[in-house]
Amino acid sequence: MASVLMFPTPFPDETITSLVTRYHQMSGGVGLRRTLVELFGAVTKSYASELPCYLTHLEAVSGYTGLVDNHTLLPYFEPFLSAEKAKRARELMQSRHPLGLKLELGITAAGFEKYRCRRYCPRCMAVDFAVCGVSYWHVCHQAAGVHVCPKHHCYLHRVLAEPNTGDFNQLFLPSDIIGCEAGNAIRSRSEVHFSRLAELADIIDWGRCNRQSIARLLKDDYLHFVINRAGLISKGRVCASRLEEHFIKSSSDYPSEYEFKKLFELHHGRVVWPLDLLRRRKSSHHPILFYTFLNCLDIDLKCLIEDCSDSVKYNSSTKPPTLIEPMEASGIERNARRKSFRIAYADVPAKDTGDYTWLYRHDRYWLQSYISGHRKEAVVRDLVDWTERDCELAESVCSAVAEISAMPGPPVQISLATICRVLSVPPDTFRHQHKLPQSMKAIKANLENRHDFQIRKLAWAASALNIENISRTKSNLLRKSNIRVSYLTEEEISRFMS
Ligand SMILES: [Zn+2]
Repeated sequence: MASVLMFPTPFPDETITSLVTRYHQMSGGVGLRRTLVELFGAVTKSYASELPCYLTHLEAVSGYTGLVDNHTLLPYFEPFLSAEKAKRARELMQSRHPLGLKLELGITAAGFEKYRCRRYCPRCMAVDFAVCGVSYWHVCHQAAGVHVCPKHHCYLHRVLAEPNTGDFNQLFLPSDIIGCEAGNAIRSRSEVHFSRLAELADIIDWGRCNRQSIARLLKDDYLHFVINRAGLISKGRVCASRLEEHFIKSSSDYPSEYEFKKLFELHHGRVVWPLDLLRRRKSSHHPILFYTFLNCLDIDLKCLIEDCSDSVKYNSSTKPPTLIEPMEASGIERNARRKSFRIAYADVPAKDTGDYTWLYRHDRYWLQSYISGHRKEAVVRDLVDWTERDCELAESVCSAVAEISAMPGPPVQISLATICRVLSVPPDTFRHQHKLPQSMKAIKANLENRHDFQIRKLAWAASALNIENISRTKSNLLRKSNIRVSYLTEEEISRFMS
């Protein structure tokens, strides 16, 4: 693999997009495809992503290593991924098979991708111009939830993605688009919003640069420590409704746009993700949930660093509080409940005994072991007495057949549908055929096929013609009996002719 000439030296915290753009501009800006093939070995949109792939190729041709750690957003996501997912992410980013990286990491499913846009800080841009001679895109400004520059504490300017594709296919630097920004600076002018967003940006940026510390906080169940400190744990239980109330109240501190629109959107009047986050704290989740959680509980950068350096105070060996903690119970009551449960359980299912709920809450271990040690034979109770039902139905079928046969006027064919109609029962009444042998026998013996039905029709036609004094010719018989396609032989018809 030949290395490319004039690959720019990566600036601190510069994105891959920015590096590719600078290379493209330095090499004359001729042909995007040629630039991409040179740098990635393929024509790929990967260059526009904060989690780009094909990096083994880029490292080989540029001569710069450590691109994943220093120039992409993986460090932002990494502490929140399982070890296995983090390893897979690195492999995919280095590989030439980038498909589905964000899907696999659950980033797409988290639903914040639609608010993705490229952002820059005007003051960083001025500094970069003065120091580096060029403006460039910073990784720290691209993380979800960062709308304020962590360094200069001013609102970031936003460049929206291509509306049709959601991608940034153009190679440009912040200085190339001044005055053409689609979103410009974030619109909110509320001071409360600004201070919240500034605090949030601070902790996100610190977390991205100190991912080991964040991973440790997650492992040590920091979120429970934080809500405990906020007084949202009482008698070992998380006060779920107060927690939810707190988050609903906090939502007014954030703009009602961007990621916050999704985060604080009410579902049937509820915000459920904070409680979900506490429940599944060990599983992979989007970083913005964790950071917004902390931010809503007033954890600013100073507090976060202090907590991190003093992990002893929350990393206690005691069990983290559970959402439903078993309560203390007196020994006398427990023994009485056990005894009465044992007596009742001999006759009724466990859940129908009066003591089940109490024992489940106060003495669960005993309850479960008693039930598993005294399993009952599963009793299959059929609610229907099929023999009796069969008898009744068989009788009804016979009387229905008699009724159909005796109907005045032109004959009606004896079919299962007609029988059910006469009996006023649903058409699937005889579905359980094997449970209704007598009924099925009666039905089979009486059902009429087309031939038999036509014979009956012909007999009726003959007697009707007789009464009307009309000669019983073949055509008169067939017309009267309404037979269009005959299933009868000439001989059978001639029996009815006069
Ligand atoms: Zn800045």
